[in-house]
Amino acid sequence: MKIGIISDIHGNAEALQAVLKELKNVDKIVCLGDIVGYGADPVFCIEKIRELEIPCLKGNHEAAVTGELDLGYFNEDARLSALWTRKQLKEHILAYLSGLNRRITICQDVLGVHGSPRQPLWEYILDEQTAEEIFSYFDFQIYFVGHSHIAGYFTFHRKNKVVQYVSASRGAEVVIKRDHSYIINCGSVGQPRDRNSQASFAIFDTEQLIVHIIRIDYPIARAQDKINRANLPGFLAERLSMGI
Ligand code: ZN
Repeated sequence: MKIGIISDIHGNAEALQAVLKELKNVDKIVCLGDIVGYGADPVFCIEKIRELEIPCLKGNHEAAVTGELDLGYFNEDARLSALWTRKQLKEHILAYLSGLNRRITICQDVLGVHGSPRQPLWEYILDEQTAEEIFSYFDFQIYFVGHSHIAGYFTFHRKNKVVQYVSASRGAEVVIKRDHSYIINCGSVGQPRDRNSQASFAIFDTEQLIVHIIRIDYPIARAQDKINRANLPGFLAERLSMGI
């Protein structure tokens, strides 16, 4: 079976459509949260996810627009975009976002979460130390995560306890070894921050035991134009072409 893993769409309809086109032949798709926030098309993106019956986790941006998280934790641009996003969403859509789960079992020993298994909404797994703590505490073969918008993966040799990090800012092919565990960040569909502006996503081939992290072009200028026309903070448009 081939499973598409997407995360951090952030209201970017152009990036989402480009990624879904690449995923049209997979058996299922899972979304790790942050459908909304930053971008100008939150409603389109939520409706697309629901129409395709893609199981989706709650990200910190969903928790922000539904009022579960205090916007005081957000920086100015994130806060302004959360307030703007909330205004675009009707009650039934807010109810859908409120009801999203924080964890998902993708298949046996393969799990998904937005941030980290310890703190699904908030924690970033950015360094080997954090990854090692998670590898030591939780039992799994693969944990798919999003949240940092930085594509890459940590490997953990279960016998000698060595943790290594590999960047996937230009894509990657991860061959899953039985004696290793993995934390794999599929990167962000709609707002990559690893200095590559291309949309990021992953495909997990459960028979071959390979995860491909893939980067593709999408019409960035169109997404930027919509952000500017919506009077969202200008930096939210600028950063898309810089990949930051
Ligand atoms: Zn995000």
